[in-house]
Amino acid sequence: MPVKDTFLNPEDKSYKPSRHPENLVMVEREATIRYKKSYGGMSAYFQGIMEKENAVLRYTVCSNQDGHDEQRVLRFQVPRMDCPECYEKTAWDSLPGETRFIVETKSTAVNLAGISFMDQLPVTVAWIKAVLPEGIELDTLTAGMVNLEDYNTLAKGDELKPVFRKAPKASASDVMWVPKGTRGQKLPEGYIPSKYYNI
Ligand SMILES: [Zn+2]
Repeated sequence: MPVKDTFLNPEDKSYKPSRHPENLVMVEREATIRYKKSYGGMSAYFQGIMEKENAVLRYTVCSNQDGHDEQRVLRFQVPRMDCPECYEKTAWDSLPGETRFIVETKSTAVNLAGISFMDQLPVTVAWIKAVLPEGIELDTLTAGMVNLEDYNTLAKGDELKPVFRKAPKASASDVMWVPKGTRGQKLPEGYIPSKYYNI
């Protein structure tokens, strides 16, 4: 585990370290942990968003209608390996190109972020409703990263389109979202459309 230490001034009372700071040596330790992270059963989702111009958004479906509070099929995006209502294994499918992606609301906690996004604050996210071509809405909203400029102008009901990282990192941020009709230079840097989802 690589470790980097930086000497800290023991006189600085903000550390409240000791009644005898003159006898204290203190360092700030920065540690990097390297490990192999597996996406396990979620790998199919990440494979889908890493396909650049061939990228697809995969979702999961639970057809065990009798096991659900309301007796109907449930659809989840991002995918759930196990159905949160009946705990059965779900089936995988891809969102077709004609799927409509509509802003439902925007995240207001833009300065709170998981560790993967700590250096990218504010993290501007729109909560997106996906509507399949036959008019069926998915049962979950998708948290979609949008750039700050778009975040400031987006409103409920606006239509978004997914774009995908040209050099994927195997991260949820390999997909970003732009307002329908966004072209060329206006796309987030390093992101391209997929042939499956017309902008
Ligand atoms: Zn189920």
